[in-house]
Amino acid sequence: MMQQVDVIIVGAGPAGMSAALAAHQVGYSLILLEKSMPGGKLNTYQTLEGFPGYEHVSAQQFGLDLYDALTKKDIQTTYGDVQSIEKKGDRFIVTADTGTYQSFAVIMATGTKEKPLTIPGAEALFGQGVSYCAACDGGFFKDKDVAVIGSDLHAMEEAIFLANICHHIYVLIPQPGLAPKNWLVKLNQLANVTIIEGATPLQVMGQDAVTGLRYQTVIHGEQDILLDGIFPILGWVPNFQPLQAFQTLLDQDGFGLANREGVSKIPGLFIIGDLQAKALRRVKNVISQGQLVVKELANVIKR
Ligand SMILES: Cc1cc2nc3c(=O)[nH]c(=O)nc-3n(C[C@H](O)[C@H](O)[C@H](O)COP(=O)(O)OP(=O)(O)OC[C@H]3O[C@@H](n4cnc5c(N)ncnc54)[C@H](O)[C@@H]3O)c2cc1C
Repeated sequence: MMQQVDVIIVGAGPAGMSAALAAHQVGYSLILLEKSMPGGKLNTYQTLEGFPGYEHVSAQQFGLDLYDALTKKDIQTTYGDVQSIEKKGDRFIVTADTGTYQSFAVIMATGTKEKPLTIPGAEALFGQGVSYCAACDGGFFKDKDVAVIGSDLHAMEEAIFLANICHHIYVLIPQPGLAPKNWLVKLNQLANVTIIEGATPLQVMGQDAVTGLRYQTVIHGEQDILLDGIFPILGWVPNFQPLQAFQTLLDQDGFGLANREGVSKIPGLFIIGDLQAKALRRVKNVISQGQLVVKELANVIKR
C-alpha cells in the first residue's frame, strides 16, 4: 500500500532539512526524499560565508550538523530521485525511482544544478575528466593540467582553488565583462595560471578520457590545448523536472514561482530555496524559508 503522510519534502539541502525539522517540531508526519547526499550544495564548496554568528565555517560540516539534528529527532532521509508529482483531489502522488508516496502537501526544495557544457565531447567525457565541482573532484587532478571555463566570480574562485592543487590551470573566460577585476588580478599573480579572455570552447577532445580542449578567440582563431581535466563553471539551472505537470508554476527559465513563504498557485504545493525564482540564494535565506513554509501547512493539512 502507498505510504501516506502529511507532507513530502523533496530535496535534503539546507532548505529541505530546515523544513523537515520545523514540520517535525509541529508534529506533522513527513517523508524527506533525497536523490543524492543530504546537504545539497553544502557538499560542493569549502567555506560557508555570511551565516550570522559563524565565521568561515566548513560548508560540509554545516550540512552534517543539520543532518545530525534530523537524526537526533529520528527524522529519516529516504533515498529517492523524484520523477513526477500529480495532484488527485486533495492529495499529492509523488513518484520517485524508489517508490510512490502520498501526502496532503509537498514542499519542493530541489535547488539547482550546474549549467552543462553542451559542446561535442562534454557529455560523453563527464566523469572521465569533465567535472562540474572542483571541491569534489579537484584532488583527482593533483599535479595535472586542467581548464576552468567560466566568466563569473564562482569560476574565478574555482580556478584559484584548483591552482593550489594542479600543475597548470587555463582559465577560459567566454564573457570577460562579467569577471570581477580583483579576482582577475589575483589569478594573474599565480605563476601556474594562464587566462584566455574571450575564448569560446568548441570541443572536448579525447576518446575514453579528456586529452584536450579546442577553443577559438576572435584574434587567434581555433587553438587546441592539451589537458587532463575540464571544469565548466557556467552558472546554474533549476531542478524543476518533478514539476513538469505544473508548467504554470515555472518561469521562462524553469525556476518555481512562489511567494516568500513558499506558497505557489497550487494549494498544498510549496516551492522554497534556490529552486524559487528570484530567491536570495544564500544558506541563511533558504533555512529561514524552510521554517516559514511550515506555518503555511496548517492551511492545507486538515486533521
Ligand atoms: C559554489 C557555491 C558556493 C556557495 N557559497 C555560499 C556561501 O558562502 N554562503 C551562503 O550563504 N551560500 C552559499 N552558496 C549558496 C547556498 O549553498 C545555496 O543557496 C543553498 O545550498 C540552497 O539550498 P537548497 O536546499 O535550496 O538547494 P540545494 O543545496 O541545491 O539542495 C537541493 C537538494 O535537492 C536534491 N534534489 C534535486 N533534485 C531532486 C529530485 N528530483 N529528487 C530528490 N532530490 C532532489 C539535491 O540532490 C540536493 O541535495 C553557495 C553555492 C555554491 C554553488
